[in-house]
Amino acid sequence: MSPSASSPLDLIVVGGGPAGYMAAITAAEQGVRQVLLLEGTPEPLQKVRISGGGRCNVTHACWDPRELATHYPRGSRPLRGPFSRFACGDAIAWFDEHGLTLVEEPDGRMFPQQNRSEAVIQCLQKAAKASGVQLRTKAMVQQVRVHPEGGFVLEGRGLGPLHGRCVMLATGGHPSGRKLAQSLGHRVVPPVPSLFSLTLQAPALTDCSGIAVDDVGLDLKLGNQRFRQTGRVLITHRGLSGPATLRLSAFAARALHQSRYQGELKVDWSAGQGRQGMEQRLHQWRREQARRTLSAANPCEHLPRRLWQAFLTMAGVEAERRWADLPAKAERQLVELLCGQSLSIQGRGPFGEEFVTAGGVALGEVNLATMESRQCPGLYLAGELLDVDGVTGGFNFQACWSGGWSAGRAVAAIFKRSH
Ligand SMILES: Cc1cc2nc3c(=O)[nH]c(=O)nc-3n(C[C@H](O)[C@H](O)[C@H](O)COP(=O)(O)OP(=O)(O)OC[C@H]3O[C@@H](n4cnc5c(N)ncnc54)[C@H](O)[C@@H]3O)c2cc1C
Repeated sequence: MSPSASSPLDLIVVGGGPAGYMAAITAAEQGVRQVLLLEGTPEPLQKVRISGGGRCNVTHACWDPRELATHYPRGSRPLRGPFSRFACGDAIAWFDEHGLTLVEEPDGRMFPQQNRSEAVIQCLQKAAKASGVQLRTKAMVQQVRVHPEGGFVLEGRGLGPLHGRCVMLATGGHPSGRKLAQSLGHRVVPPVPSLFSLTLQAPALTDCSGIAVDDVGLDLKLGNQRFRQTGRVLITHRGLSGPATLRLSAFAARALHQSRYQGELKVDWSAGQGRQGMEQRLHQWRREQARRTLSAANPCEHLPRRLWQAFLTMAGVEAERRWADLPAKAERQLVELLCGQSLSIQGRGPFGEEFVTAGGVALGEVNLATMESRQCPGLYLAGELLDVDGVTGGFNFQACWSGGWSAGRAVAAIFKRSH
């Protein structure tokens, strides 16, 4: 195959990430003959390589398409359709058919059996090669325009003009892809970071960095919007991270951006006991542990001792006092801290820590059954380029597999009809 301006290729996919690979492979396996995958960097699938701490969290064991869609702060409702055609079970089967077994962890995340992201890369590259997809790296597309006789012309760095009947944009969060989509008539919802940790003004707490606590309630009020999450948090040297914090940041991504990452966060460390439960617990401890010191007798078994001691410091009470001598005011202060600690958000985690971008091509402009643009027929879009993003746990890749697969099938259907 020698791509040129005069002989149009059937499908040109821009972006060698998971969405682009899935679309290219699916189209080629369904009979589309000339599929060219253009990747701007020297190596495709780089995000897959670094994903999941080098293990690649490929998807999440969530079998009901409607339930699956609830894990997407942006795209939740519209994704129900694509997920009813290709969801987690289909992704597992797809990888299995292509020689990669996915294994479920107790929390539902699914990883390759080899526990290495390299296995996912090899699987995708092997499938692309076997189905006849041509890959060109160092091919940064800078312009896509509609060809007067049909199809599209692509140009860019390291690329002569290429003519394709169909074009798919799968450029992830890269700004160039959003510009290409805009030049073809699309509206782009401004991108903002999602899935980040929170920087807090709480020195006594951040002294406990490295401690993870389960069942922590997070309650964030920004203007008239309220965001709540419960789950595992990790105390870092800057503030809070861990799954519940990341989920909170994802659902509150736009509101936090608008508030310049400032706000008040209420944290409930009581593991669901609430104020009444915690008051009773402290009364009980005052009676039963009367002769022991506050520091030695921790009433909150789910909190590591170091953290409990930090709460004593925050409540301004001497750790070496005996339980019998705990002043009533300090007791109330402890209940307040444990059930609704008020923390001031000072910013988000350092730049680059976010795993995905919220925002992108507006979903209403894409037919999600086929991933074809409603603005520009013959143009397909999928993956992070769209205004879709999920929480951590494999959901972001799942959106890429579903969108890529739908686009590949839709392109194949066009060629089947015309042959
Ligand atoms: C550190 C990290 C860890 C992550 N871990 C997970 C995880 O475990 N599970 C999960 O579900 N999600 C994870 N994610 C999110 C996931 O990686 C993304 O949602 C996903 O990669 C998006 O896929 P995509 O195909 O849309 O875009 P990308 O993976 O970003 O691929 C787009 C490709 O297009 C290329 N490109 C861009 N513009 C052009 C152009 N103009 N011309 C040619 N090529 C171009 C880029 O170089 C890139 O290779 C992680 C993200 C990060 C950053």
